[in-house]
Amino acid sequence: MRVMVLGSGGREHALAARLRASPAVSDVLCAPGNGGTARVARNVPVNLEDPARVVELARAERVDFVVVGPEGPLVLGVVDALSDAGILAFGPRRVAAQLEGSKSFCKRFMRKHGVPTAAFEVFDDAAAAKRFVQESGRAWVVKADGLAAGKGVIVAGDVAETLDAIDRMLVRREFGEAGARLVLEERLRGQEVSYHIVLDGRRYRQLAAAQDHKRLGDGDRGPNTGGMGAYSPPPVVTAEVEQRILEQVVEPTVRGLVSDGLDFRGALFIGLMIDGGQPSVLEYNVRFGDPETEVLMARYGGDVLPLLLGAARGDLSEVEPRWDQPVALGVVVAAPGYPDAVQKDLPITGVDAAEQVPGVQVLHAGTSLVGDRLVSSGGRVLCVTATGTDIDEVALRAYQAVDALHFDGMQFRRDIGHHARRGGRGGPTSAT
Ligand code: AMP
Repeated sequence: MRVMVLGSGGREHALAARLRASPAVSDVLCAPGNGGTARVARNVPVNLEDPARVVELARAERVDFVVVGPEGPLVLGVVDALSDAGILAFGPRRVAAQLEGSKSFCKRFMRKHGVPTAAFEVFDDAAAAKRFVQESGRAWVVKADGLAAGKGVIVAGDVAETLDAIDRMLVRREFGEAGARLVLEERLRGQEVSYHIVLDGRRYRQLAAAQDHKRLGDGDRGPNTGGMGAYSPPPVVTAEVEQRILEQVVEPTVRGLVSDGLDFRGALFIGLMIDGGQPSVLEYNVRFGDPETEVLMARYGGDVLPLLLGAARGDLSEVEPRWDQPVALGVVVAAPGYPDAVQKDLPITGVDAAEQVPGVQVLHAGTSLVGDRLVSSGGRVLCVTATGTDIDEVALRAYQAVDALHFDGMQFRRDIGHHARRGGRGGPTSAT
């Protein structure tokens, strides 16, 4: 089987590497891929924003199965285009991708199906939104309705900040069309958890829980990022909490997807807030998380193809995920300037030395090959993933590997996994 992975991040490198290892896969292509996917797949250029061109490419390359990594192409209908052309694809169709593509669609879905989530109101008009906030007399989380590259959420601290956020979105249009409508949401407290399920349209299989670290700096300080690291399993998800997640969140979500006729085939990443053992949904993402995928793929036992293919074909009945590696942890190494204006084209050294550390794999995100030289080409550059049985030992090895890497101005957190590590926020502080 010829498989093509769409995307160019660490998530896609992790998926492509696992697919490469499948006995049923003869070839893996990655479109457009990065400097790391080039080692496990054949990179082919593509414009991910153009579903018709993706179909042309899949046809020209005689691809049997397409695995879509990022949300953008899903929201633009790449799976609809591929399916209409008779090409099997992993990922939801456009109508279901609105769960991520539109926060108001997502919140209304949750309200309709009784999924626990923060109270909210939807506004298109700045004056009405401001009146609502002033009457409430408190701060709200302000969310751009559409896709805003992970930047469209402002967790306001007070009324004035809430009003300013409304202006930035609805009046100054800082988030473009994505901010032409907004959702005001009650602020939730607690620990965030990333919970993934894979659906075949009717059935689901849950994956292991994971936890991401969104802030740039140690101790969860500094600006929000796409994610500076992740680990699995997080201790906040006890057996009892997981049972609640399944009963109170996953079951009503899956029933809602089925009863609304959304035929969801792909990965649903449920962003949860856990407070006092009770889960509430922050958001749905209609694809695997990044960097969560890097740690989930590191833990996943056996061949990953049947999971992805079963979802796309509408039959997961034979698939039962198992987690051969008890613990995995991934440290993201980011470029100088990240998450704002990043410096690129920095030569990267030490990847082979880092991978000499037992249980370590270096997954690439923003890298490219210039001749045979590896250089940085994005904000999040690498994700160093380690596996094992004990979180402290796994963290130690991940950081040993990070210390073997070098590019100018590299930034990373020293405390990935701190909720689980016995040393807590151990190690020297932040970036080197
Ligand atoms: P979202 O894209 O909706 O997950 O929001 C991005 C980030 O903003 C989340 O990962 C949370 O850290 C934060 N956030 C979103 N909604 C809320 C909320 N209702 N209460 C507190 N924090 C939130």
